[in-house]
Amino acid sequence: MGHDRVMTKYVYAFSEGSKDQKDLLGGKGANLAEMTNLGLPVPPGFIISTEACRAYLAEGREPEALSEEVSAHLEALQKEMGKTLGQADDPLLVSVRSGAKFSMPGMMETVLNVGLNDESVRGLAAKADGDERFAYDSYRRLLAMFGSTVLGVESEVFHQALEDLKNDRGTKNDLDLDVGDFQDLVATYKKLISDHTGSDFPQDPREQLDMAVRAVFDSWNTERAVLYRRQERIPADLGTAVSICSMVFGNCGMNSGTGVAFTRDPASGAQGIYGDYLQNAQGEDVVAGIRNTVPLADLEDINKPSYDELLAIMETLEGHYKDLCDIEFTVERGKLWMLQTRVGKRTAEAAFRIAVQLVDQGLIGMDEALQRVNGDQLAQLMFPRFDVDAERNLIGKGMNASPGAAVGKVVFDSTTAVEWSDRGEDVILVRRETNPDDLKGMVCAKGILTSRGGKTSHAAVVARGMGRTCVCGADSLDVDVKKKVFTSADGVTVNEGDVISIDGTTGEVFVGEVPVVDSFVVRHFEGDEAAEGDELVAAVARIMEHADSARRLAVRANVDTPEDSTRARRFGAQGIGLCRTEHMFLGERKTLVEHLIVAETSQEQEEALSALLPQQREDFIGILEAMDGLPVTIRLIDPPLHEFLPDYTELSVAVALEDERGERDTKQHKLLDAVTRLHEQNPMLGLRGVRLGIVIPGLFAMQARAILEATAERTKAGGDPQPEIMIPLVASVQELELVRSDIIKVAGEIEDEREVKLSFKVGTMIELPRAVMAASEIAGVAEFFSFGTNDLTQMTWGFSRDDVEASFFGTYLDKGIFGVSPFETLDRDGVGQLVRLAVEKGRESRPDLHLGVCGEHGGDPDSIHFFDEVGLDYVSCSPFRVPVARLEAGRSAG
Ligand code: PEP
Ligand code: MG
Repeated sequence: MGHDRVMTKYVYAFSEGSKDQKDLLGGKGANLAEMTNLGLPVPPGFIISTEACRAYLAEGREPEALSEEVSAHLEALQKEMGKTLGQADDPLLVSVRSGAKFSMPGMMETVLNVGLNDESVRGLAAKADGDERFAYDSYRRLLAMFGSTVLGVESEVFHQALEDLKNDRGTKNDLDLDVGDFQDLVATYKKLISDHTGSDFPQDPREQLDMAVRAVFDSWNTERAVLYRRQERIPADLGTAVSICSMVFGNCGMNSGTGVAFTRDPASGAQGIYGDYLQNAQGEDVVAGIRNTVPLADLEDINKPSYDELLAIMETLEGHYKDLCDIEFTVERGKLWMLQTRVGKRTAEAAFRIAVQLVDQGLIGMDEALQRVNGDQLAQLMFPRFDVDAERNLIGKGMNASPGAAVGKVVFDSTTAVEWSDRGEDVILVRRETNPDDLKGMVCAKGILTSRGGKTSHAAVVARGMGRTCVCGADSLDVDVKKKVFTSADGVTVNEGDVISIDGTTGEVFVGEVPVVDSFVVRHFEGDEAAEGDELVAAVARIMEHADSARRLAVRANVDTPEDSTRARRFGAQGIGLCRTEHMFLGERKTLVEHLIVAETSQEQEEALSALLPQQREDFIGILEAMDGLPVTIRLIDPPLHEFLPDYTELSVAVALEDERGERDTKQHKLLDAVTRLHEQNPMLGLRGVRLGIVIPGLFAMQARAILEATAERTKAGGDPQPEIMIPLVASVQELELVRSDIIKVAGEIEDEREVKLSFKVGTMIELPRAVMAASEIAGVAEFFSFGTNDLTQMTWGFSRDDVEASFFGTYLDKGIFGVSPFETLDRDGVGQLVRLAVEKGRESRPDLHLGVCGEHGGDPDSIHFFDEVGLDYVSCSPFRVPVARLEAGRSAG
C-alpha cells in the first residue's frame, strides 16, 4: 500500500538544488540551481530529476506521482511570474532542456517556447509592444523544434521550408524575413506536421509540456546518444534530468541577443574575454552556426551595461567554481539572463596551463591542480606538430578549435569517412558545419574542418572532447558537400580524396601533406633545453614534479634495446619492467634460432646456442649500462613459435619447387620438417614461454649465462647492474623450480670462473589463471611477480590476442558487453580480481614479494589507478607512456 511508503521526490525548484547534485539534477540543472542560490539572474524554473527519467525508461511510462509534482511546481512558477503557461493574452513560455550528469553536447533534445499556440502567439505579440514579428518567429521555432524532436519529423523538412522561403524572398539572412513571412512559415510548418504525422500540432500548452518532457527522456536512448556515451565511457543507465525554465528571449530585436562565454580561452588557457555573441537570435542559432557570430568583446559596444554585468558574473563564477566556466546567456531587451554554466571542457594544453594559473592565483593547491589534468591529455601534448620550416601551401584559415596536426584525404560525409578509415586511410572530414549525425565520421577522422561556426560550434565542442584536431569557421573556403569539392578564396579546388593538412593549434589549412615534428613537451622530456622557455612546458614540468613527489607506484619501461633504455630513462623510467628477449632474436639472428630449432643432435644444438650467447651478452651489457643502478627485468625467451618459424605454406611451396629441380635434403627440407612437427592449431596456447625453455635444453641456461656474464662484466667495470631474471608463462611451481635451479647453477659457474659476486633476482610472470591459484607456492620460489596482463586477459576471457580485435570485438563493443577493449583497459571485475588474488596469496607466503605489471595495461590511466589500489610496487609500459604513467600514478595517490 502506498500510504506508508516514503514517496520519491521527482521535481526540484532551482532554489532546492546545488552544484553537487549532478547525479540527481543533471549538470545543467545542478548548475542552474547553484547560480540561482548565488543570486545571479537566472530565469525561474524547476528540474525533473534523473530518477524520474530512469523510472520512465524502466517502466515505459512516467512514474505516477510525476504529473502532480510537475503541476505543483508549475503553479508556483506561474505565481512567481504572474501569468500561466500559454495564457492567451500574456503567455508564460518555458524551455524544456535535457541535462545529464555528464555533458553530452548536442546529443539530447531541447524544446524552446513551449506554451505558444495559435491564440497565445497573439497575446505574446501584444505584450511585446505589438512586436508580431518576434512572436511569430518564436512560434515557428517551437513548431520546428517540437515537430522534429517530439513528433519525429525530420528536421531537414523544416530547414528546407525555411530555405525555400528565403530563396523566394531573395535573401540569405533570416533577419530579412518579416512578420508575414513568419506567419506563412507557421502555416507551412503546421501543415508539414499534420502531413508527416497524421495529427495536428497540439494546442494545449500542458500537453506540449508533458510531450516535450517525454521526448527529452526518450532522447537518452537515441543512437547518437548511445554512441557518444560509449565513446566517452559514460555509463548507459544514468538517465537525464529535465530543466524547465521560464523563457527569456534573445530574438526580440537588436537590443536582444544570445551568446556563449568562457572565463578563459578553452583552446590555449589564456585569460581574457572569449566567446561569441549573436544579436536578435535564440541560443540554438549560435551552436548551429546559422549566422556568423561576433566576438564577445563586441558586446561592450552593443550593450555596455550587460557586458559589464556579464564580466562581473564571470569573475564570480570562476571564483566560486575555482575553474574555467563556460556560460550561455541571453540578453532580452537589454537585460542579461544566465541560462547555463558549467566547468568548461578544454584542450589538453589549456588544462595544464589553467591548472597552474589557478595555483598561482591562490584558488587551488598543487594537489588539486594534479587532479585537473590527466594522462590522456598529457599523451595528446606529446603528439607531433607541423614542421614550421617545411614548405606549406596555405589555402585558408579558420579558428583553432582543437589542437594538433592532422594530415589526410578529404572526405565530405560521415559514411565515406568511416569506409575509408576502415580500409586504413587517414581522412579529414570537411563540412560546412557538423551536427550530431556526423559523429561517426568525426570519431574515425584524423581531423575535422568546417567553414562555418565558431569555437562553440558543434564541431569544435565535440572535437575538443575527443581530442581530435579541428579547424572550424574557415569561412574563406567554399564547401560544396553535395559536389564533394571545396574551393579556397584564391581559387584552389580540393576534391574528395585530395590530401590536406590542418593545424588545430593555429587554425591554418594547407593543401598537400605538411611534414610533422615532435612536440615541445616530448622534447622537454628528452632533455632538450630549447624547449625549456615554453610556458606550456613549464606548466607540465611543475605538475609532473608534483606527481612524482606524490606517487607511491614506481614506473618502469618495457624496452629491449640500449637506445630505448636511454630514452626511457630520460622520460623518467625507474628501471626496466620487461625486456622481451625474443625481440632480440629477430632480424639477422632469426636464422640462428632456426638453427637451434632444426638441430637434430645435441652438438648442433650446442653450436647454435654458442653462436647466440655472445650476441645476447652484448645486448645485456648495453642495457644494464643504460639502466645502471636501476632494476632491469629481463624475461627469458617467450616466442609464440609461429612468429619465429617461416610460414608453413610458403615453405612448402619452396620445397616443392626444389623437389621439382631434384634438389633433396637441403636446409629448407629440414626446416619444413621442423615447421610441420611444431605446427600448432593455436600457437598462443602452445609451445611458448617456460615450456620452450624446458623442452629445448640449454636455451634458458644460455640466456641466463648471457645475462649473468654481462652482469659480471658490468660489476667488474665498476657499474651497478641490477638484473632480475623473469620466467614467462609459468603455471606451476615445478616449472619455476626446474628453471631456477639451472639459473642458480649457471650463476655459481660464472662466479667461480670470473671470481665475482653476482647479485640478481629470479622471479616469474603471472599470466595464467592457474598461476594465480598457485600464487602462494610460486611465491615460495619467486622473488618477484610481474603481471603479464596481456596473456592473463587472453587466458581469462578465452580470447585469442591475435585474432579477436579483427573478428567479434566490434560487435561486443556495439552491444556494450564492454565499453572498451579489455586488452586496453584492465577488466577490473574479472582479470583485476585475479590480480588482486595473486597479490594476496603471493604476499601471504612471501611478505617482501616485489610486485609489478608489464602488460599493456601498465600504461593505461584507468588501469594504473587499479594497480595502485591493489598494492603493486610498479607499473611498466612503453617509453612514450612513461610520463603518462608517472602523472596517473601521482593522481591515483592524491
Ligand atoms: C603479457 O602477457 O602481458 C606480457 C607482458 O607478455 P607478452 O605480451 O610478451 O606476451
Ligand atoms: Mg605474455
